[in-house]
Amino acid sequence: MDCKAIAAVLKRELGLRWDPVALKMLRPGEAKPASCVQPATRLRHCQSVIAARRGNALYMPPRSHACPDGAGILGLVEMSAKLRSGELYLLFRKMPDLATAQQMIAERPEFPSGAYAATALAPLKDADFEPDVVIFTLWPEQAMWLCCAQTYATGRRQEFRLSGFNSACSDLVVTPMQSDAMNISLGCYGSRAASEIDDFELYLSLPASLLEKITPALQKLGKKSIPESRRKIYLPPVLDRVGADLAENEKTEIKVNEEICIGCGLCAAFCPTSVLELVEKNGRFFSAATAPERCSHCYTCVGQCPARALQIV
Ligand code: SF4
Ligand code: SF4
Repeated sequence: MDCKAIAAVLKRELGLRWDPVALKMLRPGEAKPASCVQPATRLRHCQSVIAARRGNALYMPPRSHACPDGAGILGLVEMSAKLRSGELYLLFRKMPDLATAQQMIAERPEFPSGAYAATALAPLKDADFEPDVVIFTLWPEQAMWLCCAQTYATGRRQEFRLSGFNSACSDLVVTPMQSDAMNISLGCYGSRAASEIDDFELYLSLPASLLEKITPALQKLGKKSIPESRRKIYLPPVLDRVGADLAENEKTEIKVNEEICIGCGLCAAFCPTSVLELVEKNGRFFSAATAPERCSHCYTCVGQCPARALQIV
């Protein structure tokens, strides 16, 4: 996988603030990637994701992991008895009773203890290893475009599995690796308290196998859909009319400025109720509203017209 090229497309098309982070779960005996360094201080797993998005390439064996919960869930160490029983969740007052805590723990995706020996993380653009997952810090609109790109590439809708508990480990690593599907995370108590994810940001994790399908789809969406949506092309004309009473017997008038209409036919093609047609006048083609009574005021024609030749009144 050409991590550098993919990272450049993702960053450009989505307008990402932070570099996506490549993460690999290293099996026992698997070599440390050459670029990765073992940090001088212990980090929680969620903090290591943040450190990588800031540009660091990290090698994190169990003794580099500060969070025993995260290290246990990732299969790097045996989970401590107090964490496994749910007792600690009660002390933190994050759970009402032991039975509820145990239910949460039983449902939580985890790797078996000892399955992995270390995590390796780096900004995707610098990764010198094949990642298992790529983790994005983004806001909802950017996450939406990754979902759209996946649907564009595969036709599939997304199904997310998440919790307000153990987000960076269970939801961002274990779930996407086990399901081979993208997953989202809103963060959790630990990751929000211990790392600098902003209140308006969330995480999305993609298995690397999906990344190569999604990236070209995102490039295609970046040619039209993404910039149009960001320009909110259907919003201003609607808002201009809000606040005025609906007149009795109001009739829709679709005005075409024939001076500037270039006769491209986009308005007619996009109109969902076939209100518009191209008509010929003096050897030139113009748009004309031949069935204005069918107009629903969706403003699609106005938004799609490259010449700004249409007005709905
Ligand atoms: S506003 Fe919508 S329904 Fe009306 S003419 Fe334009 S595209 Fe068609
Ligand atoms: S989209 Fe605009 S320029 Fe093209 S035919 Fe319709 S009104 Fe004319």
